[in-house]
Amino acid sequence: MLFLIDVIKLLPDNVANQIAAGEVVQRPASAVKEMLENCLDAHATSIKLFIKDGGSTYIKIQDNGIGMSETDARMCWERHATSKISTAQDLYSLNTFGFRGEALASIAAVAMVEMVTRRQEDDAATKIIIHGNEIQSQELCSGAVGTTITVKNLFYNIPARRNFLKSISVETKHIIEEFQRQSLANPEVEYELYNNNNEVHKLRITNFKERLRDVLIGYQPQDLLSVNEITEIVEITGHVAVPSKAKRTRGNQFFYANHRFIKSHYLHHAVMAAYEGLIENGTFPTYCLFIKVNPAKIDVNIHPTKTDVKFEDEKHIYSILKAAVRKAVGNFVVQPDMSLGDLDGLEGLLNTPNYRDQPLLDKNAGVPNSDRKFNPFNGNYNNHKRHQDWAKILGSVETTHSTPSHYNADTQDLNELIPHEIPEVSSCFQLKNGYICAVIAGDLHVINTHRAHKRILFEKYLRYLAHGKGVSQQLLFPRNIELSHGLMAVFNDTQPLLKKIGFELSQFGGNSILVNGLPPDLENKDELEIIENILTDIANGQDAASANLNKFVATSMASNAAMKNNTQLEELSQKAFVNELLRCTEANYSPDGLPAIARLGDDVLFEMFKKGKI
Ligand code: ADP
Ligand code: MG
Repeated sequence: MLFLIDVIKLLPDNVANQIAAGEVVQRPASAVKEMLENCLDAHATSIKLFIKDGGSTYIKIQDNGIGMSETDARMCWERHATSKISTAQDLYSLNTFGFRGEALASIAAVAMVEMVTRRQEDDAATKIIIHGNEIQSQELCSGAVGTTITVKNLFYNIPARRNFLKSISVETKHIIEEFQRQSLANPEVEYELYNNNNEVHKLRITNFKERLRDVLIGYQPQDLLSVNEITEIVEITGHVAVPSKAKRTRGNQFFYANHRFIKSHYLHHAVMAAYEGLIENGTFPTYCLFIKVNPAKIDVNIHPTKTDVKFEDEKHIYSILKAAVRKAVGNFVVQPDMSLGDLDGLEGLLNTPNYRDQPLLDKNAGVPNSDRKFNPFNGNYNNHKRHQDWAKILGSVETTHSTPSHYNADTQDLNELIPHEIPEVSSCFQLKNGYICAVIAGDLHVINTHRAHKRILFEKYLRYLAHGKGVSQQLLFPRNIELSHGLMAVFNDTQPLLKKIGFELSQFGGNSILVNGLPPDLENKDELEIIENILTDIANGQDAASANLNKFVATSMASNAAMKNNTQLEELSQKAFVNELLRCTEANYSPDGLPAIARLGDDVLFEMFKKGKI
């Protein structure tokens, strides 16, 4: 008879540590994250990071923080050794990144580590060497105040995990990302990053905006707009870039919840919604936004490697964030056609009195560039003229001709608009390259004719698509177009929309369509080519198109029908044109997010002619 003996044993410490380490240190970037956070917790004002081979062979982090005593220098490598909390209650009043006391123990379990640390009050520094949790040596040495930790040969004792690492370049990218996330949120700290002895970042102490410029590179001060929305539920601060800086690749989107970097599809969506109509489909705006809420109302997943969070007031935060960003990008007129959604809170927010108190000019934007915050509807103009002026001007413009020297505003459509207060356009002239210079509310503005016309047409077509009031001009001799199979399918789906804009098209057997009438804007244009272009645009952008077909059709139509930049207009037509532009809800930008108006206000001119300027 065989007696079974007890089989359960406690794992040796080093094995237990290795297992736990896998949770915290998944890749070199996770070790970097933990150590960079420790530097901040230690009140460092200067942090230097050196890596080699994607961090797999070498990571060194040097800080000038508070350092550790001789005893702490050994203790900190023990699991659950932390100086940051001592009772469970402390968990609720945390103001440090770390509190679990696991990071260093985990790193030491899977690497060869050396640390030199010294406190201000100590004469000597302590140097300790640990390989896979085994202390190799500890001695006093000379060293500056602060802590330097070197981590060599990560996962040297866990080959499986080492093999699991991606390429050096991928690991390097993760580390750089982590470095950027932290340095963006802490501009009061100087950061440096060296990869294989090459300088990647050297970031001086500065403010949030400049830090963002230093980290992301390629942004002028006027490219970054500040977001600042303080409500009872949430505080949102930070910066977003102007629409024209949107990029096809992701990577310049940063959210922080109570100072911790987070990822949130939901909040990203709010920002995307705020840029709707201002950036091209498939591009992503740059933003770095700090969201502060009552810690009791946020569930930060405390797993050290997780970046997702759950907010209690998620829906409200969404609305407030969207409105705040929208305001920053210079547009806060709610236009029903633009499918802004009917989120709770948005309307209330928009109606608060100071919501529209928009500073006219970013104080950093002292260059003769387009003033991206300028919004003709913000009510800050003194000499408002009402709707009647517009009618007066239009009345004197011949609307029956359509030679290129006339600009025909669509009076029928305009009468249906909610009357906005628009600033006075006192005089206009056109440069030989086609730019229109207009004095609007006493300030000189230069208008890019093509982009501005795109904006006017885009908004007009959106209205037509919503209300189906497009006018059609009958052709004396109907024309025939042969479409490919693919375009024919698109045509069938799109025909009702095209009709609303003013196209009269009918099927003529097979893949032929007959063009009987056209929107008046297409006169003197190659209308057959334009129809094909629009159908091709829709066919190519099926996804985006199906998400918002109206917008897609309007954009495509506007791009195809807009006047060329060098189109010369008569003076009255120029005025009518500028007025129509000013009636748009987003006069500053073309539908694809490019600036359409540059303002040369007093402030800008003053800056240009300041003494001492060349
Ligand atoms: P936690 O940050 O959760 O407390 P860690 O394992 O990251 O756990 O660090 C353990 C302890 O080591 C910290 O609580 C802190 O006292 C000390 N420590 C770690 N890094 C530093 C540093 N760079 N400067 C000073 N003390 C540090
Ligand atoms: Mg820590």
